[in-house]
Amino acid sequence: MSIVRNVLIWDSERTDAVFGDIVVGGDGRISAITEPNYAVGKTLFDGRGKCLALPGLINAHTHVSMTLLRGMGEELPLMDWLKKKIFPVEAKLTAQNIRNGADLAMLEMISAGVTGFIDMYYFMQDVAESVLESGMRAALCRGLTGEDETKIEDNLSLADEYNGREGRITVQLGPHATYTVGKDALRRISALAREKNLGIHFHWLETKGELETFRNEYHIEPSAYLEETGLLGVRELVLAHSVWHPIDQLSCVARDNVTLVHNPKSNMKLGSGYAPLKEFLSSGVRVALGTDGAASNNRLDVWDEMRFAALVHKGYNLDPTYIGARDILKMATLNGARGMGLRDTGLLKTGYQADITIVDMDNPRYVGADVSNAPEFAVYAGSSRDVRATVVAGRLIYKDGEFLTLDREKIMAKAGKDRRELS
Ligand SMILES: [Zn+2]
Repeated sequence: MSIVRNVLIWDSERTDAVFGDIVVGGDGRISAITEPNYAVGKTLFDGRGKCLALPGLINAHTHVSMTLLRGMGEELPLMDWLKKKIFPVEAKLTAQNIRNGADLAMLEMISAGVTGFIDMYYFMQDVAESVLESGMRAALCRGLTGEDETKIEDNLSLADEYNGREGRITVQLGPHATYTVGKDALRRISALAREKNLGIHFHWLETKGELETFRNEYHIEPSAYLEETGLLGVRELVLAHSVWHPIDQLSCVARDNVTLVHNPKSNMKLGSGYAPLKEFLSSGVRVALGTDGAASNNRLDVWDEMRFAALVHKGYNLDPTYIGARDILKMATLNGARGMGLRDTGLLKTGYQADITIVDMDNPRYVGADVSNAPEFAVYAGSSRDVRATVVAGRLIYKDGEFLTLDREKIMAKAGKDRRELS
């Protein structure tokens, strides 16, 4: 038994937060929530009544190794940015670059209280090794483009080698986007996903141009496309962006195996538009939050994404009641875990994985926070600077600025060298 002691506990199944101890069993799961300073055992972290414990934050759509491409091709439209800047650099990346970029992303996310992420890129075996070493949790897929069989084989061998590893890695299949994968190839990939019982992670209707292509060139509506390609029948379907998913076609994605990932900062930066978040939620669609890659955000900071998502839709819709802080926190925790294909992660309750983000409330921004308003303080006043500790599967991987699994200086030096060589 180890104990996260005397913390204010909130998750999306609670109305009020509660002071208590979180007891973690030897299997890395929560075995009990008790009164504060009640549980007996080794103390993993003592909040002294001045820390807030939230379920671990999930970055539900990203490309972690793009930390090495941060700052490249600033202020270009998506297709110019991809074709003129990103794709040429990506063609040069080595497996070692991918590893070094992933390690750098682990530092950034762990220190921001992120415990899990959903990623699409290539040389994913190297990303998986980074995840295993860091102590984080991830759902990984190899980005698939064209009709390239070798990429599909690579994605399947990633699944053979890493799916379920240490209970912390889920492997999905990663058809890149409608503009890089044809309909027949997509049909085949979704059939493979169903056969192998794997999820799919897909970029979906990020820009208005993609919707126009559907209508003007493919002569098909998005909902029919999802049906006809078999994507809706896979174990879990993660649809990144979905900015232009028509609001009269949301019922097809309001399913337990589908998660839409809202990436508002990347969408704003690339001028892609505003996802209709309120319609998503009112239609019963599960929505998670992601940062997208560091080249289009430029942070891998889920706190930043939460605050921005909570604010931007209010302003754009002239409606301060639009999207509550509690909905936002649920998107960043439980819903992200569901997108990873996990049914036992994202809440602070008995039997769930002990993935915990611990926040310092003993700081000026939290004066006034109590059991009734802790989620609102976290979303509107909180920031990643307040994270004191990060716990994954009951293991403390970050505490008070110290990385307990990774060598910060070594990672920074390697990534800095790579970045200079790629520029
Ligand atoms: Zn993306």
